[in-house]
Amino acid sequence: MPDTDLYALLGVSKDASADEIKKAYRRLARDLHPDVNPDPETQERFKEITAAYEILSDPEKRQRYDAGPDAFGGFGSFGDIFEAFFGSGFGTASRGPRSRVRRGADSLVNVTLDLAEAAFGVTKEVTFDSAAVCEQCTGTGTASGAAPETCGTCQGRGEISQVQRSFLGQVMTTRPCPRCGGVGSVVTDPCPGCGGDGRVAQRRTVTVKIPAGVEHGIRIRLSGEGEVGPGGGPPGDLYVQVVEREHEVFERDGDDLHCKVTLPMTAAALGTALTLTTLDGDETIDIKPGTQSGAVVTLRARGVPHLRGVGRGDLHVHVEVRTPTHLDPEQERLLRELAKARDEEHPDGSSGGGGLFSRLRDVLGGR
Ligand SMILES: [Zn+2]
Ligand SMILES: [Zn+2]
Repeated sequence: MPDTDLYALLGVSKDASADEIKKAYRRLARDLHPDVNPDPETQERFKEITAAYEILSDPEKRQRYDAGPDAFGGFGSFGDIFEAFFGSGFGTASRGPRSRVRRGADSLVNVTLDLAEAAFGVTKEVTFDSAAVCEQCTGTGTASGAAPETCGTCQGRGEISQVQRSFLGQVMTTRPCPRCGGVGSVVTDPCPGCGGDGRVAQRRTVTVKIPAGVEHGIRIRLSGEGEVGPGGGPPGDLYVQVVEREHEVFERDGDDLHCKVTLPMTAAALGTALTLTTLDGDETIDIKPGTQSGAVVTLRARGVPHLRGVGRGDLHVHVEVRTPTHLDPEQERLLRELAKARDEEHPDGSSGGGGLFSRLRDVLGGR
């Protein structure tokens, strides 16, 4: 159990003056300075007295410390005290070498789907480059397969503390160990298979089940199928991103589909039945007599299934009416007759023409 009495740590009484505290700290710091005593235990103690001094030399902090643990919700250890004063990450309790073994990165791979695959779901294989555990060293990174050695520069702590004298007194700074990069251990005999990283590049193929209703840009997460981490650490995730191919007939808007059909004027005027190949196969579309250019025929639930929940989007068929451009004399005569018949019989233009329409369809049909 570490000593939690900061006064005892500096060897002074609880009612010591600021000057007494300063002198006590200077005396101890001289003896425990890392330049004099580089062993880890002494360095630890040096850190502790420095932190104790930082608290007791500040009147406001000293007052808070004197108020007791209740003022901070209780502290049981040296680390707790420092955490209360300096926040987590300070001092010996919560600092230390970061792990050599870390989680791997996430991977991203594209999968290209056509509209029907995106709409109804599909199972696809995707191939991508990733990082896998090195089989030669099983992730340790050492040629012998043994664990990496403790770093001699930082004694495995991953960081180096330095005390500098300044006009403010002694200032302690801590920085990551330059030799081991902060991990506290070094690979002295790197594995020839992976160069010490513990992992190797690998091309992999995975099978991914794509649900119905996905669309361009959606990412499907495959947990743990990403890169293995440094030192053989746990793998990241694989994200499979949907790239949707454009359809030659249908344009997608969310789960709705749109397409365009062009009709001859006569067919639009008289009404007709069209056959359209939808995602569900051939469907007959009923075009009502008198359909105008720009009219929209909606086929309910013939769009893309909703990814979440039930139901489907709609299919909107946009009708474009084509007016004939080159009329032969017979066609022109019939159209003129028709126009005249409509004017005479139905000035409101609602319907009319009678048998002329059928005659006209025979003459113009298919245009
Ligand atoms: Zn080191
Ligand atoms: Zn290796």
